[in-house]
Amino acid sequence: LVGRMRPFGTTIFTEMSALAVRTGAVNLGQGFPDTDGPPEMLAAAHQALRSGANQYPPLPGIPALRAAIAAHEQRFWELTRDPDTEVAVTAGATEAIAASILALCEAGDEVVCFEPYYDSYAASITLAGAVRRPVTLRPGADGRYRFDEGELRAAFGPRTRLVLLNSPHNPTGKVFTAAELTLIASLCREHDVYAVTDEVYEHLVFTDATAPHIPLATLPGMRERTIRISSAGKTFSCTGWKVGWATGPAPLVSALLRVKQFLTFVNAGPLQPAVAVALALPDSYFAQFRDGLQRRRDRLVAGLADAGFAVLPAEGTYFVTTDITGLGGSDGVEFCRSLPERCGVVAVPTQVFYDHQEEGRRLVRFAFCKREEVIDEAARRLRTLA
Ligand code: PMP
Ligand code: GLN
Repeated sequence: LVGRMRPFGTTIFTEMSALAVRTGAVNLGQGFPDTDGPPEMLAAAHQALRSGANQYPPLPGIPALRAAIAAHEQRFWELTRDPDTEVAVTAGATEAIAASILALCEAGDEVVCFEPYYDSYAASITLAGAVRRPVTLRPGADGRYRFDEGELRAAFGPRTRLVLLNSPHNPTGKVFTAAELTLIASLCREHDVYAVTDEVYEHLVFTDATAPHIPLATLPGMRERTIRISSAGKTFSCTGWKVGWATGPAPLVSALLRVKQFLTFVNAGPLQPAVAVALALPDSYFAQFRDGLQRRRDRLVAGLADAGFAVLPAEGTYFVTTDITGLGGSDGVEFCRSLPERCGVVAVPTQVFYDHQEEGRRLVRFAFCKREEVIDEAARRLRTLA
């Protein structure tokens, strides 16, 4: 491996999932559900496989899926999209993020993002020859993550090309508030830069959250400069399908597709009609999906608190962050490497998602997108730590 990718090792998810398999530990590290998604979706995939939908789909995705993506955005977020020019199907959100950055950034351009950040952000920015300008999210006295307005303002400069925003936010479970989004939007307009929004957890904002999910693209002056990204993986519990999408104004979607042609060209032919079926499920599916995750969050949070962890509030996503200081831990990486041996549980050290790693040194992320009996077993094991 040469050049710019040399600093990137094996991802923490691969390392920790391999550790879970090797030690037989309960895996609350990598965020993937351990149950299947809606039966209507699975039946549609079977049907598509049997009826010969096994060749290359069109570059932007099959028309039925693009129409379903547009209808979903209208239904939930009142964003109107032309399915023919403003929607692109991608190989997961991961490809949409990479293709957006590769399409929009020149070498040396700067990308404003928030740390901790999902690990593919740094790699995609680096692949584009661009430079990341992370703004740190820090837990306040109430445990909620905030950023400093001055730090955000200072991150913008003459080379800023885009803001990469993830809300609801992995790994913190933060949902950016209307006031925070308004500030981000005003800086995007003032500096005339693009926004790329990773909204893969758009349907996972819990009922006790202090803020609803608001797509940045719905704020004044943002629709025309924003690529909005989501994925079937989270909402329909099919992370292995890698069906994601990007929506935005036609010139931005067209730029993204120019890049996608040479990354994967197309993906997931027989799964695309099935995701179209899932996106059209009634509102009750989305509410039940959220309520189910919220119950499991509460179950895991209770277990973690019982085991001596300081648990930070998780308002959305699959994840909850803990501080390990009370358990005598001072380094999350060491803690997570030894946890399977100590008690048979795998978690993910949050510090690997920071440029300023000391900011997350004592923080550890646990995933609660697991069956209740799995969460209970993990909690039972974690209690033996105290
Ligand atoms: N962004 C975030 C914030 C994520 O948590 C994930 C999850 N795995 C992704 C992007 C990637 O999504 P996909 O699996 O659809 O590529
Ligand atoms: N998004 C998942 C997580 O944060 C993992 C995705 C991956 O393994 N790359 O745990």
